[in-house]
Amino acid sequence: MDIAEYRQKIDTIDDELVSLISQRKHLSEVLIQHKLQSNMPVFDAAREDAIIDRHIQHYADVNPVLIEKLFHLLFANSKRQHYKNEHLSPIADYINRKPIIIAGPCVVESDTQIDAIATALSAIGVKFLRGGTFKPRTSPTSFQGLGDEGVKLLATAAKKCNMYSVTEILEAEQYARNSEYIDIVQIGSRSMTSYGLLKSIGKLTATDNKFVLLKRGFSATINEFLLAADYILQSGNSNVILCLRGIRTFEQIDSSLRFTPDLASILELKEKNNLPVIFDPSHSSGNAKYIVPISNAALQLGADGLLIESHCNPLNSLVDASQAITPNELLHIINL
Ligand code: PEP
Ligand code: MN
Repeated sequence: MDIAEYRQKIDTIDDELVSLISQRKHLSEVLIQHKLQSNMPVFDAAREDAIIDRHIQHYADVNPVLIEKLFHLLFANSKRQHYKNEHLSPIADYINRKPIIIAGPCVVESDTQIDAIATALSAIGVKFLRGGTFKPRTSPTSFQGLGDEGVKLLATAAKKCNMYSVTEILEAEQYARNSEYIDIVQIGSRSMTSYGLLKSIGKLTATDNKFVLLKRGFSATINEFLLAADYILQSGNSNVILCLRGIRTFEQIDSSLRFTPDLASILELKEKNNLPVIFDPSHSSGNAKYIVPISNAALQLGADGLLIESHCNPLNSLVDASQAITPNELLHIINL
């Protein structure tokens, strides 16, 4: 056999491979419909692991890492297909334009504060305005945010500047009564394991066709993080954005870092799933002077976007003043 013949045989195998992947996808779509009709769980992590193990055992001459990666991609592909929303909101267009930049103050403080930062951010092309309104504070006596009033101020400022609002909720009810003012619902690090909340928010946002931004629990492993995302996906909403925001390690004992920026996890997440992955340099470092270099590193590592705390007068921020940067400083981030 000459080289051309070898190539032709390989081309034939490649065609068969892709054709099999396509057949697999169609079959899994039909199976998913059957499962839904029978009220069965759509995905089964134990079965997925068993499938991978079986193939690793059976094909000893194929690199087990390749088998594992291949199946993770196949499973992710059918999950993605299943959850793919046919009626994508206009927001989805912006989510697809990388990098996704979400910026704004830690907390909505007043109408003038949020209007000023929205205006400055939209002037540099930021489309997503974040602002805390229901704040998860460590101490019950710390400022908890402006609640319902804050959500309205955030939405008004965002609308005025042609932006989309992003805010965290701690209870499903907070979203339910403010849904018209929230474009992207944030589930914070401290709530990542509130599985009831993930389920109810998944359902509510699926109906409303909204995106959910899920932050990694600061003590969660990557798999725990992905499984938390599965709660939302399985509740019917495929519009999930994963956000890495730093993890707690021994580094905090004697460094100025608020958390340890989990930058390498970008690589891991991008390999294991195909939801957008963004990075939060603000909470992960807690330090304004590190925001730009960490943001650039995150983008270099393949992050799909950034979530950054930004304030017109960082030192006057009511919450998290040490990590806020001005809109002008944001311009030092590559590809912005
Ligand atoms: C936030 O983004 O406002 C926030 C509180 O972040 P985290 O949940 O990551 O601590
Ligand atoms: Mn904050």
